[in-house]
Amino acid sequence: MAFTLVAFHAHPDDEALLMGGTLARLAAEGHRVVLAVATDGEAGAAASSYGSAGRLAAYRRSELDRSAAALGCARVVRFGFKDSGWPAALDGFSTLPVEEAAAPLIELLRDEQADALTIYDPAGGYGHPDHRRVHTVGTYAAAEAGTPLVLEATIDRRLIRRLIRVVEAIPGVLPNVSAADYNHAYSPGTAITHRVDVRQYMAEKRRSFEAHASQASSDDGARTLALLLKLPPSLFRLMLGREWYVEHGRTPSAPLDDIFASLR
Ligand SMILES: [Zn+2]
Repeated sequence: MAFTLVAFHAHPDDEALLMGGTLARLAAEGHRVVLAVATDGEAGAAASSYGSAGRLAAYRRSELDRSAAALGCARVVRFGFKDSGWPAALDGFSTLPVEEAAAPLIELLRDEQADALTIYDPAGGYGHPDHRRVHTVGTYAAAEAGTPLVLEATIDRRLIRRLIRVVEAIPGVLPNVSAADYNHAYSPGTAITHRVDVRQYMAEKRRSFEAHASQASSDDGARTLALLLKLPPSLFRLMLGREWYVEHGRTPSAPLDDIFASLR
């Protein structure tokens, strides 16, 4: 049976790292995958090198289209809210009333008769205000639209801290990151309901990274992607071959591989 999944993200490139493999796998398995992005990411650190936030936004829109094509997404929808940036702007997506911020997503979920929505964990992963807002707005929108399945795209924080401790030992790779910064980021391992095996979709995930990493010299998110692209393929597969979710309303037990298990 084919399902429709709406993946709700804060900025172009968020879809690549957290769930690019899942999106590619679901599309390859015949499901309808719709990518919805709250902002155009125009507050990215690279804005000054583009002359204006508007030009950066246009550039990031084309990158998102290339990434979505690589992953097999059937549709890309941009809500065009203002990127809050970090520290957050006073009038960005993260500051809007939830009803206003959720309105276009509710409409999309109804229009697509979506079976499932993905959002982020309450911590907003590493804590960007727009990411925390995706959690709140997405949860609200799914309830309003009656979307039966809601999953938080996340990472088991134990794995991040373990990885950072390894990377910390390599001088100059991540100069300002320490494992302790991640004590409250993403999700505790005990909350994880799904661990999705996407090792067969590494080529698609890599192409999605490449679509966003073209300006990696100046943008933080793209820099992370560019750094990961430098990994040898075997290590890339090891580190990025699984993706994690917390399903709302499901008691965690042995992690599931099937995103749609609750619908079957
Ligand atoms: Zn983001």
